[in-house]
Amino acid sequence: MEEAARCEMPLWYQLTYPQFIKASQETEVAVMITGSLEAHGKHLALGTDTVMPEYISKAIAERTKAMVLPPIPFGDSWSFENFEGTISVSPINLINFYIDIMKGVFKQGFRYIVALNGHGGNSSHLESAAKIATKKGDRIVIIVNWWRDLAEEVRREVLETREGHSAEDETSVMMHVAPELVDMASAKPAIVRSQFRVVAASYREEIYPEAIYGDPTSANAEKGKAILNQAIDDLVRLIEDLERGKLPLIED
Ligand SMILES: [Zn+2]
Repeated sequence: MEEAARCEMPLWYQLTYPQFIKASQETEVAVMITGSLEAHGKHLALGTDTVMPEYISKAIAERTKAMVLPPIPFGDSWSFENFEGTISVSPINLINFYIDIMKGVFKQGFRYIVALNGHGGNSSHLESAAKIATKKGDRIVIIVNWWRDLAEEVRREVLETREGHSAEDETSVMMHVAPELVDMASAKPAIVRSQFRVVAASYREEIYPEAIYGDPTSANAEKGKAILNQAIDDLVRLIEDLERGKLPLIED
């Protein structure tokens, strides 16, 4: 009974190696999940950027044959290093780590890696790693910055304020996925804008007051549910296309 359940839900770390051989023969797609451990306002848990893509990936494991890797719970959280509870990995270490993981996955015979990313600070590092890891052979990395690339229409429909760090979007999704990790009584808005990209280690708290960019006060679980359901559908479609050898390229 248990064995059958495992095979239906290919979470990489739960399989024995014979089970892995069987499950990996049924798919060309592996899903790599990248998160962060960083301050998210006073109302969201430090692991927010890991919790959300992990939730999505479990739904992917239920609905597709893609092999889901265990989430990487640390990322480049440079912007939030001054806030308590944040642990940040330096770009060079993160890129090398991603390269090793990607090369390891390709070595197992997968053709595609869907990098399901939960944190903005990781995006450029995933890209740097992918450029190196895909150099040889028929290897493809698709980077999905899920909060931006998935469920675009639904987000436009349900959100009343702009997306951001610990903003209405992230807070709504967390209220649906893990309400026990949300403290709405402590949610308040903060937005510091700039026409330019300001980089200054000693001004992190001025740039992101209380580790917030946006207005979480209008968040609710229904909005989060709508966003997530659409995000999961979008990702399932992407994986099904990849299994058919179709890249997500649109000619205008
Ligand atoms: Zn976040």
